[in-house]
Amino acid sequence: MGKQGVVAVDLGGTNVRLGLVTAGGKVLRRRRIKMRTFSAKDGLLAWLAEAIDGFLSDAGPAFAARAVAIGFAGPTDSRAGRVYYAPNVGRLAGIEVASGLRRLVGLRVVVENDANCAALGEYWLGAGRGAKSLFLFTVGTGIGGSFVVDGKVWRGHDGIAGEIGHTVVMVGGPRCSCGKRGCLEALVSATAIVRDYRAALRPGRAGRAPRVAGAEAEPLEAKEVFERARSGDRRARQVIDCAARALGIGIANVFHLLNPEVILVGGGVSRAGAALLGPATEEARSAVFGPLRGRLRVRRTSLGDDAGMLGAAYLALDRRRI
Ligand SMILES: [Zn+2]
Repeated sequence: MGKQGVVAVDLGGTNVRLGLVTAGGKVLRRRRIKMRTFSAKDGLLAWLAEAIDGFLSDAGPAFAARAVAIGFAGPTDSRAGRVYYAPNVGRLAGIEVASGLRRLVGLRVVVENDANCAALGEYWLGAGRGAKSLFLFTVGTGIGGSFVVDGKVWRGHDGIAGEIGHTVVMVGGPRCSCGKRGCLEALVSATAIVRDYRAALRPGRAGRAPRVAGAEAEPLEAKEVFERARSGDRRARQVIDCAARALGIGIANVFHLLNPEVILVGGGVSRAGAALLGPATEEARSAVFGPLRGRLRVRRTSLGDDAGMLGAAYLALDRRRI
């Protein structure tokens, strides 16, 4: 007898990851393709349907897909199966992903925001396994967040609960992509770390983008700033310490507001490991109520790039959880 499960699709900004996932959370087959941009919603859905059909037919008849699960970057109404806005795929708005894809692939389709999928994946099979509640910080180019309680995402009244990246942690701080100042995202994201390091290399020109000439010699990615800090660059260390402290304040805020059993930190920037999480946890501990310091649990995520795919699969495998 063949295997059963779901096709899970994680649509990120750069890559699309597809996986055949069994009910037990085993990924039987994977594929990664480059994300594209689209000028029309129909074009996006047709392209996705083709990718899913091709993936399934290459897997052969031994695998029976029961549903398709999509993790989408952008605010999503998972109950209605609709993506409100998808900046990564061509600034499309109001995409009826579940009903549109269902017509094309002939399978039940569930859709969820990618940060929520990652949190559910970690809750199911990763660093949050066994916890009743968790909050996930996804620290990458921007900062996402998601709160999971008893296997369900807490979405809030308008579906934006968990947007920790746009909570203000420094009044009058650096300008954020959302237009405000001092958001956590404007202080801790990869973008912020690179911006602050560049500014630190140019005393007196703080916060201003460098001219193109000479920029080649500067690190363009946050991981290079971490590497420089490791090899003793004082300015890189200071930038990372500042970012870590801001993250620590964000963690303490979440602890006070939601008091989750465990707080997870994932995303590209979290790959720096202890260099970021060590000082961030220290800052968070010093900022939470004294008698509760020992209760704060901060961990790195453990599923890496599979988290979103597995969390999407988790949703599709049990409809009651939506
Ligand atoms: Zn913001």
